[in-house]
Amino acid sequence: MSKRRVRYLPGKGISKITLAQENQKLERNQDLTHYEDTFYQCGKCGTCRTVYKDAYWSRICPSGEFGKFEAYYLGGKNLLTWAITTDKLKWSEDLAKIFYQCSVCMACVQQCQIPEIHTYAGEWLMAMREEAVKLGYGPMPEQAQYAEHVMVEKNPYMEKHEDRLNWLPSHIKQSSDAKLAYFVGCTSSYREQNVAISTAEILNSLNIDFRILDNEECCGSPVYMTGQTDKAKELAEQNIKNFKDAGIEQIITSCAGCYRTWEDTYPNKFGLTHEIEVKHLPEFIRSKLKTGEMNFNKDVNMKITYHDPCHIGRHMGIYKAPRDVLQQIPGIELIEMTRNRHNAWCCGSGGGVRSAFKELSTFAAKERIEEAKETKAEAIVSCCPFCLNQFKNNIENNDIQALDLSELIRKTI
Ligand code: SF4
Ligand code: SF4
Repeated sequence: MSKRRVRYLPGKGISKITLAQENQKLERNQDLTHYEDTFYQCGKCGTCRTVYKDAYWSRICPSGEFGKFEAYYLGGKNLLTWAITTDKLKWSEDLAKIFYQCSVCMACVQQCQIPEIHTYAGEWLMAMREEAVKLGYGPMPEQAQYAEHVMVEKNPYMEKHEDRLNWLPSHIKQSSDAKLAYFVGCTSSYREQNVAISTAEILNSLNIDFRILDNEECCGSPVYMTGQTDKAKELAEQNIKNFKDAGIEQIITSCAGCYRTWEDTYPNKFGLTHEIEVKHLPEFIRSKLKTGEMNFNKDVNMKITYHDPCHIGRHMGIYKAPRDVLQQIPGIELIEMTRNRHNAWCCGSGGGVRSAFKELSTFAAKERIEEAKETKAEAIVSCCPFCLNQFKNNIENNDIQALDLSELIRKTI
């Protein structure tokens, strides 16, 4: 393994950006045995159960807090993985469930002070799911069902592919030979269509030539995250072909999961280098604000708090761009939740948890909503339609709103 540099930030734990994003070349096209040496590194310290805070340590792992047993925290999963790879334990349905009852939010990985675990645990948590699929113990039935649908209708929502663009209003202007595409994603196409409309209107307001491909397919994230790697790779290959054939050179996404999948999973996990520049909407907007090509004109008088989506936060190291954009919107007061950035509590929708483990998913969402309400913000804002949908489904009594960053930006143009 290559040389590592650990940067411990007092009060914040260690930074994944320093390790995994800057210094590490993750060897990801590997099976479980590749990571064997890392399983011995766990010191059973329990740090993966906590968030470093100046005043106190609070909870971090939805899986462990819900499961209430060591096996559900990273330390326990580490031990179980070691036992599996050294033939001390046999696979079973119950064992597989432990690994699937986890949103792969990477909060535990972020906290672990052991460099090998900090760097590689996200990989072997996924490798265990892939192994479960190979041996017939995974995915969970609900995840297998949506994956079957994805392979036919290109979305996990049991909707028809031919309805994918039903959200698209006639006033949106597209350019048929544009090199820039808006990759809408399944959640914005079928469930949170306001995110798609807002994003398209923002692009129009910037007079940017763009188009939306009618052969866009699910990016594959919900399939990949549940260990169904071969199917996910098939989707990746088809998407890349469709976008390359159309001459697309740049993609804007409004979904954290789509962004991570195109930018990270396709090239780094599947080895599919597509050479298409991929930008998540907040990064794109921030660059336009910097060059003066974009200005926010109208006041949005609102107190908000920001929820870091796991897939752009801990998975990709993007914390600053959305905050920079939010802070430039006139009239916005951003109040941080206690757990933020790499310490953020997961919304509970990812990793196939929402489809297969509804109680865990609801538990995580409700805890995040309560944390947001404590800030006295009027809205919890994120930049992922999946987080947005999860919050909307779990907010009771309308005592806080859930919004996407694109919806706030739309109010200013
Ligand atoms: S996984 Fe890391 S943080 Fe968790 S118990 Fe082991 S050494 Fe400690
Ligand atoms: S990835 Fe998230 S849910 Fe899974 S064990 Fe780690 S902190 Fe818990």
